[in-house]
Amino acid sequence: MRRLLRILRAVALLLVAAAAGLAGLLAFNTLTNTSRQIAVAPLAPLPLDQDAAAKRLAEATRWKTIASADDPDRSADAFRSLHAQIAAGFPAFHAAAKREVIANYSLLYTWEGRDPQAPPVALLAHQDVVPVAPGTDGDWEAPPFDGVIRDGYVWGRGSWDDKGNLFAMLEAAELLAREGFRPRRTVYFAFGHDEEVSGKRGAAAIAALFKARGVRLDYVLDEGLLITDGIIKGATRPVALIGVAEKGYVTLELSATATPGHSSLPPRETAIGRLSAAVARLESRPFPASIRGVMRQTLEAAAPEMDLVNRVVLSNLWLLEPLVRRQLEKAPQTAAAIRTTTAPTIFQAGDTENVLPGRARATVNFRLLPGETEAGVIARVKSVVADEGIAVTPRPGNTDPTPVTATDGAHYRTLERTIREVFPDVAVAPGLMVAATDSRNYLGVTDTVFRFSPVRATAADLARFHGTNERLSIANYADMIRFYRRLLQATAQ
Ligand SMILES: [Zn+2]
Repeated sequence: MRRLLRILRAVALLLVAAAAGLAGLLAFNTLTNTSRQIAVAPLAPLPLDQDAAAKRLAEATRWKTIASADDPDRSADAFRSLHAQIAAGFPAFHAAAKREVIANYSLLYTWEGRDPQAPPVALLAHQDVVPVAPGTDGDWEAPPFDGVIRDGYVWGRGSWDDKGNLFAMLEAAELLAREGFRPRRTVYFAFGHDEEVSGKRGAAAIAALFKARGVRLDYVLDEGLLITDGIIKGATRPVALIGVAEKGYVTLELSATATPGHSSLPPRETAIGRLSAAVARLESRPFPASIRGVMRQTLEAAAPEMDLVNRVVLSNLWLLEPLVRRQLEKAPQTAAAIRTTTAPTIFQAGDTENVLPGRARATVNFRLLPGETEAGVIARVKSVVADEGIAVTPRPGNTDPTPVTATDGAHYRTLERTIREVFPDVAVAPGLMVAATDSRNYLGVTDTVFRFSPVRATAADLARFHGTNERLSIANYADMIRFYRRLLQATAQ
């Protein structure tokens, strides 16, 4: 009996010691996980006529530069009006840079550098906008194409995506050109005109031109992730995410065939039943989620900027990763960043109520995590479906995920520093783009792609992107101009 008590006491002591040790380890990891943010002096405010700049952006939103997938010349007049506005609005920049029109509507500016040995860089933006969803015009607080300035905002389609970036770049270049700035390295400004419908006519043509001319870009900066404000759970301040990779895009068609026949004599298995079961299997067995790669980098950089609970958790992923993964899997927005997603989008079979169709077809769209491939997705789909009778066919236009841009290079550092100078309250972390940008077309002429828009956005603002009541605050717009001006100085002084 006494011996048993002794053993129990020893076990209890051991457990207490283990718990204390674990708590100590968690605390140690948390306390030593200090901020990785670069310490910089905030940039002095820029003397800037922000009302005049806002007016130019507002005017730009009045041109309905809506790209069409089928008709390259849709909105031709709108694009020409925009070009005329740009040429007239930024005279010093136009005197300093060479302008070319590519594929009729895209614009390529070359600001020649002083040092021909210094590798060039490119800033990207797109002129086209998405249409307003039919029937939603009346929901806008200001009409989407009137160029309204009200309550400190520029309202309208394109004010944020992506004429905001495009005009902020031009404003910055104009200011510098007026000051007599001449870049050391050549800076290209490449403004595509069909980003919203793939960029195959605009960005792809500009990238092909670079290739034909033997131009290799040291880096490309395009629109992308944002300065998230209150979007990352637990963050104690806004977090600017620099997109260092884009997910891949793969669409597969699944089809089942059967002998067509009368519905009074159905076989044991029909094309519809068989295909439905296949799609249901895909949905019930999603691709595995994991906090590796870019998401891991995001969490590691953001951890020290979190409130206490989240800082403890994210500083101890070695132990708590499964907990974090389950949390991230809950919302579609975060789940998309940690797994290859599966989305059945089209289902077609049958057209008569008393006839068994000979064929059923389903279209499933996958967005691939970096490292995954089209071939890998097809192999997994076949194995999950596990039915020889289901044909799996890739659709044209599939693209693998982009490579991941390194975050230890000089240009990443410059970008990070510039963000912290212009937005001192903000922490910077790398992130994964779940959507596609024009920069995808430039992978043949550069190894270093950044996808970042210096736009502050709350969770509520995200609905305005491609949605109703798109707008950009004038204060934010002024900061965007300061950001691009500072970046141009830092990258090409
Ligand atoms: Zn865009």
